[in-house]
Amino acid sequence: MTHNIQQLKKLYKTKGIEITGVTKLVGGNPKIAAVLVANGIEILADSRIENIKKMIKSGIKAQYLLLRTPSLSQVEEVVTYADISLNSELKILKELSKYALIHQTIHKVILMVELGDLREGIMPVDIDNTVKEVLELKGIDFIGIGSNLACYGGVNPDVNKMNELSSIAIHLENKFKIRLTIVSGGNSANYNWFKSSKNTGRINNLRIGESMFLGREALCRKVIPNLFTDAFTLVVEIIETKIKPSKPYGKIYQNANGKIRKIKDKGVMNRGILAIGRQDVAISGIIPKQNISILGASSDHIMIDNTKSNLNVADTVEFSLNYKALLRVLNSSYITKNIIY
Ligand SMILES: *Cc1c(COP(=O)(O)O)cnc(C)c1O
Repeated sequence: MTHNIQQLKKLYKTKGIEITGVTKLVGGNPKIAAVLVANGIEILADSRIENIKKMIKSGIKAQYLLLRTPSLSQVEEVVTYADISLNSELKILKELSKYALIHQTIHKVILMVELGDLREGIMPVDIDNTVKEVLELKGIDFIGIGSNLACYGGVNPDVNKMNELSSIAIHLENKFKIRLTIVSGGNSANYNWFKSSKNTGRINNLRIGESMFLGREALCRKVIPNLFTDAFTLVVEIIETKIKPSKPYGKIYQNANGKIRKIKDKGVMNRGILAIGRQDVAISGIIPKQNISILGASSDHIMIDNTKSNLNVADTVEFSLNYKALLRVLNSSYITKNIIY
């Protein structure tokens, strides 16, 4: 992880881009946050104010950015714990202003611009009016704009999209005679744009999670050269191994997941059960390192084909994880997180 962070920092710096470290994938784990800070990440960003609170209470010194646009019900906490937040709603911005005044603080805001992915963002035609009102809000420091692509619609943050964001930044600076200190182009999906661009325009920030933790860009999920993809390993204990039939017997109805399964009869086999289930991990996002295969899962169990490996009760199976699997695992309170330095 340390290697990945250092490499990414160095790479993006070559074209004037600072990286904000996104901790939501690791559930705001303070020990992991400490690794980011120790390697020169100055801004930690998370989608949940609860994770930000946890990192602050664990003594991690950084600037904190709230990634998900604030809920009205959490505005006071946002002003208390986050230094910066991404925003797209005036109603929320006015509340942030109100609580910033009450708490005698200045809350920094980045306005998100919709560029086509259709998650958060102000439509470009409305940005001038919004900025005009935000500049009048007391206790609010308008420090920049940002965009987020490749999340809902899978829209590529390509040169056209990034040029559009740069143009909006330049337009706002000229029109309102201001200086935007942050123009945040996106996330781990911006890697291909970054590599293929000589000139990255006014974009000077990316918010990076997946590439640091899993070593991949997020558009095609290709490995970024020289990065590690195995910083995380899921290790699970076996709680039963038996020779049993391969096909369920009796009258077949819905299983725990609401599915009626048609399972082929492959004769008797060596089956195992792992002590982990759907509530802890996205089953489709884990790949075993041993020669076993996953037969199915319920909330607390994963059934495996143990024919080739012949593992025993109390043996462990190791898995590599993709984004959605890692997200769930690191947020499961049932899974112990061991950090090996
Ligand atoms: C999750 C998130 C990111 C980071 O995405 P990665 O693909 O993990 O780099 C960046 N910005 C916003 C707004 C996010 O929600």
